[in-house]
Order: sequence, then C-alpha cells, then structure tokens
Amino acid sequence: MKFLIFATCLLFSVARAGDPTLADLSPTVDHMVEAVLSSDPAGYLSYVAPDDPMFFQEQKNWARDLEIHCPISFRIDLDGGGFAVQRDGSITVPMTMTWKMAENARSRRVSYPARFVERDGRWLYAGEQWVRVKAPGVEVLVEPEDKSVGIQIASVLPGVRERLDELSGITTERVQQVKVYGSMKHLQQSIYLSYTDPLGGWNEPGESIKLVRQGIRSGQQMRSLLAHEYGHVITFALGSDATHMPWWVLEGFAEYCSAVLAGSPHRFPPIVSRWAERGNLRTWDQLSDFRGEAMNHQGHVYAQGHHMIVFLVEQFGLEKLIEWLRAQAQGDALDDASRAVFGMSWADIDQAWQKSLGVSKAP
Ligand SMILES: [Zn+2]
Repeated sequence: MKFLIFATCLLFSVARAGDPTLADLSPTVDHMVEAVLSSDPAGYLSYVAPDDPMFFQEQKNWARDLEIHCPISFRIDLDGGGFAVQRDGSITVPMTMTWKMAENARSRRVSYPARFVERDGRWLYAGEQWVRVKAPGVEVLVEPEDKSVGIQIASVLPGVRERLDELSGITTERVQQVKVYGSMKHLQQSIYLSYTDPLGGWNEPGESIKLVRQGIRSGQQMRSLLAHEYGHVITFALGSDATHMPWWVLEGFAEYCSAVLAGSPHRFPPIVSRWAERGNLRTWDQLSDFRGEAMNHQGHVYAQGHHMIVFLVEQFGLEKLIEWLRAQAQGDALDDASRAVFGMSWADIDQAWQKSLGVSKAP
C-alpha cells in the first residue's frame, strides 16, 4: 500500500514586507481567551477555522463544555521564537495553554505547535500543526517524531475497517481520520479543558479517532485498539441518537469489535464470571450514564457490557444485534428496542443472562 506523507516545510527566507507577524495573531488569541473565560462557545468558535469539518466538530464539543465547566483562569502564550509563515500562507507557532478549573484544582498546561489561517482578513485558530500520513480511506495525523506510528496505523486501519464494515453490514463512506497525541494530557486537553480521566482512545460522532502515542504498540494490540475505536464509528453511523445509548452498550460493542479482530468473537470476558461468583456484578442502570454514576464502575462498563453483547449475539445472532443497536441509535429506549427486535423485555433478557452466569441473587 502506498503512503503519502505531508509535512509542512518551514520557510527560512527573510521575512518580506507585508508578511504576517506575531502581533497579527494577538486579536485572535485575546478573543479566544475572553470567550473561554466568559463561557461563550459561539464567541470562541468564531475564531476557529471551519475548513476541516472534523476539527471544527471537535472544537464545537470542546467549546460546548465551557457552558458546564468554565475555568477560573485561562491563558494562551505564543512563542515568537518558533514563529513561521508557511508556503500556503498559514502561520505556525509554538503555543501554550495554561488553565485552572477551580481554586483548589491544580494548574494544567499543554504546549504544541499551533496553526493559524487567514480568512476574510481575520486570523483563525486551526489546531495543531500535524504531519499527515494518507492511505486509501484513511488519514493519520501525527507529531513529526511519530511518523512511523502514523505509517503503521495507515497500514492496519483499512483492513480493520473492511472487516468490521463487512461484519456489521454498515459501510461508512468518509475518510477516517485518526489523530495521535504525544501525551495523555494533550489528548485530554483536546477533548475539553475540564477532562481529566485517563484514557487510551476517544471517539465521538463527526470527530476523528483520537489516540495517545504511549498506548500504541504494534501488531495485534494496535489492531484491537483500532477495532475498538472503529466499533464506535459504526455505532455512530447507525443514527443521530447513538451517543444517548447506555454507555455499556457503546463500550460493550466496541470491545466486541476488538475481540472479532483478535479472532475471538465468541469469548466471554472471564472476569465477569468471577464477578458473578462473588456477587460483584452491577445493574445495567449503574453502567449507563457516561457523565454520572457509571464513571464509578468503568471496569464493569467495558467487561460486563462486552459480556452481555456476546450473550446477545449468541442468543439472537449478529444481524439482530445490529438491528437492536440501530433502534437505540434512532432513539428507542433499551427496553423498547429489546421488545421490538428480540421480542423480550429487557428485564427478561437480563434474567436469562444472569441465569447463564449461575447468578442466584440479582445485583
Ligand atoms: Zn470506547
């Protein structure tokens, strides 16, 4: 497979009269800071370049969080020493964001080379300055020192995508973008300022698959990781309410996709039987809300969710499972989708599942 690598070459020629300078970015940066500190998503987004729809969607979600979590301090510093005007007229400059979410919270800081583009006489923030590795249907964005990781992902992802498209009967047309962040704190910052949970990957509708460099190994581990994240892409393609499904359904199906690529689609995660023996299962309600109670049971969200998905596939077949996911992605509640597709109430399915695990006392 052929890979094309696009990196921006820095211009070292002497600046010409009329070239943009660091001072031209000041109004943009000032407005971004002001919008963040006043919980103003629309104001912030008016200084974000809309050219790349995935980046813009990520920034929309980033800005939307300001309405719920507004930092008490936030600043952006640009390092003029690394300022460069690129061949396409854009500006690249090392940027540092520093912020604090609450008086008693620690101060956080992330630095990366940022890009700004001029549109209608205004300079707009265009995100990180990435190196882009392209393969058919796939574009991987990496930091310059991670080019080889980009090439590996670009070689593995098309196969993962083909296998899971075939399995689910759902074909996604778009070029699948993957961003690889050099650090966990940079990935967290890219999600939104208030995000602090450790994570290996992230994916939301319309966003790129986001991974953190240190979590990526090669071979089977990479295939499994990409399959998990691409599993989310499939679910999101099923309907506009997909993110409102119970969290365990989303992660359970993603884990199932990962197991398919590992060659073990029928394997139940063994830890769940041990939890069942010790009376350590959770109710499905406890595993449903990503922003609430389920955050306290993350291990169960993934493993117990995966266990139930395998159970449903064994009981009803994969085609029915996809139909059940589709019903929920289009707004059906769990019980309604289960009655419509499996012909059973959710309570009855849960009971059958517990029985399969030998549970005598419900969690
Ligand atoms: Zn996931």
